[in-house]
Amino acid sequence: MRAEIISVGTEIILGYTLNTNTYYLSNKLSEIGIEVLYHSSVKDDPYLLEEAVKIGLKRADILIFTGGLGPTADDITKEVVSKTLGLNLRIDRNMKNLIKEYFNRTNRSMPENNIKQAYLPEGSNILPNEIGTAPGIYIKYKDKKIVLLPGPPKEMKLMFEKYVIPLIKQDFVIKTAVIKTIGIGESKLETLLRDIIEKQQNPTIATYAKEGQVDIRIIAKGNNEEKVNTLLEEIIKKIDSRISEYIYSYEDKTIEEVVFEKLKEKI
Ligand code: ATP
Repeated sequence: MRAEIISVGTEIILGYTLNTNTYYLSNKLSEIGIEVLYHSSVKDDPYLLEEAVKIGLKRADILIFTGGLGPTADDITKEVVSKTLGLNLRIDRNMKNLIKEYFNRTNRSMPENNIKQAYLPEGSNILPNEIGTAPGIYIKYKDKKIVLLPGPPKEMKLMFEKYVIPLIKQDFVIKTAVIKTIGIGESKLETLLRDIIEKQQNPTIATYAKEGQVDIRIIAKGNNEEKVNTLLEEIIKKIDSRISEYIYSYEDKTIEEVVFEKLKEKI
């Protein structure tokens, strides 16, 4: 799954705010195996933002926006994203109550324009904001996942970790396999597998040299387990057909364990 992070805010473009949200999100997404392909930053300008949404939809499966979810007129992310996707904004009674509760809790009266934050694109889900007013929004649009997060880093991080990571992982499977080899050096191994390694996208293949041994680590990703298993099986078969005489384990076992098991079989 390919992701694009789109940060919205004139202050970012002008260099008044350092774009730490993109840095944080890239890091976290990579950690869970999501490939981040693009970072975009765009001013609070409806035309430019619409362009950024359209481009993002063409080149990524997950679009993560940060910023521009607040109550003021220059907060346009939700409105522009909804319009570009062709989704109407509807008032959400629960959301309205949550915002009112937030103001009651913090002993403040709710300014009229905060009601803007209770409007949600049809078919979307709220991502609760436990420490601020702007809720996040999750939209499943065709085969894409679109996430709108507030700009303040504290709010964005909490929401991302608590709600977005589980949503992304929901229909995303990532599996790894390790092929262990012995009796062949890393460069010879790479030569024998060069075309497979060079062509790699999914699964990805990397070799790790250890003392007297080389491990081949394979990572496959997809939206269902069956597909990921097939990807792994196919690549393992291919690698096996080239270097089977050097392979001692297809599981993450040590050479000692494998030798012990072989000897035990002979008893
Ligand atoms: P709010 O309700 O707080 O207005 P919002 O979603 O509208 O939420 P913005 O108004 O876009 O957020 O940004 C609020 C603040 O969050 C900014 O002033 C800035 O300090 C911080 N911020 C916004 N975007 C980023 C970013 N990409 N990286 C780091 N900080 C950011």
